[in-house]
Amino acid sequence: MKYTSCIHLEHGITFFSNSLQICCISSHPGGGNILQIANYRGELIDWDKIFESRALMRKDLKKGIIPQKCSGCYYLKENDWSSDNYIDEVLIGHFTHCNCNCIYCYTDKDKKFFNSNKTYNIYPVIKDMVDKKILSKNATITFGGGEPTILNEFEDLVNLLLDYDVYNIRIHSDGIKYSPAIEKGLRLGKITLITSVDSSSKQIYEKIKHVPCFDKVWENLRNYAKSKNGLIRTKYVLIPGVNDNLREVKNWMKMTYDSGIRHIAFDIEDNWFKKNRNNIPNYIYVIFDFVYKSYTQYNIESCELYERASNLKIDRDNKLQYSSGT
Ligand code: SF4
Ligand code: SF4
Repeated sequence: MKYTSCIHLEHGITFFSNSLQICCISSHPGGGNILQIANYRGELIDWDKIFESRALMRKDLKKGIIPQKCSGCYYLKENDWSSDNYIDEVLIGHFTHCNCNCIYCYTDKDKKFFNSNKTYNIYPVIKDMVDKKILSKNATITFGGGEPTILNEFEDLVNLLLDYDVYNIRIHSDGIKYSPAIEKGLRLGKITLITSVDSSSKQIYEKIKHVPCFDKVWENLRNYAKSKNGLIRTKYVLIPGVNDNLREVKNWMKMTYDSGIRHIAFDIEDNWFKKNRNNIPNYIYVIFDFVYKSYTQYNIESCELYERASNLKIDRDNKLQYSSGT
């Protein structure tokens, strides 16, 4: 039966440092961040209970009752969803420590706290999901935190997933620490690495990141790119007032190509976007359009829009549709 739902409501799980959630999406009117277990600290999961709660939710969804927190979320779509019990959308974000200091990061509020915030070891939980075959081999596993490569269990965890033959592992890494497991996963074509460089000059990089690692990051990216099979994206988070100039953006795409990388990602800084969503200045559209329409001129093969940039595009498309009366 077709009904409106989303991949996360159906088969998703998100690990945070003190909670288990259904998803981590939050910039739509309903606010998202739907809780599955509060005060979660890495205990093995009672999957029967989780799947019971999903079955109850599914009954409501089939009646057209959408959770209030999902209201307005662009992930919602009508589909013939499978009611089988498995997980195929995982976010691993249970850690908050990082070797970088981005000014737009949620950890910027209290770096000392977030860098010392004790996390749990997620390896046994994922191993349990693998052993019980709760985790689908078709799963998308996304790492985002914090910086995953400095997690104690990171190399073992990635190797576990590679051995299990999961082939869609998305890793958000700042690129400062080189990871042999990422290199292996790229070689096997099972990893997508996304590194936010947000700049193409040392000066702007250091203004945003507050670490002297510009050269190191690009060197690591060039080395990862030698693996050929995996997909690497350099990402640009547009921060109005900081890196919002076209020259920086154009050089970023050129540097990406020159480093052997053929894919990019684009986003807009979260806090700024939430404040300005209904009043976006024209020059932001100019930069957005340049990136989204001109990346092929730089021999870049694809551009992934992240949550805020997608919302910017959707809002404008809707406005244009509305004003043209279609
Ligand atoms: S509809 Fe959006 S907010 Fe709701 S679970 Fe899906 S992704 Fe999360
Ligand atoms: S690299 Fe990611 S986790 Fe680290 S400070 Fe930057 S945004 Fe935050």
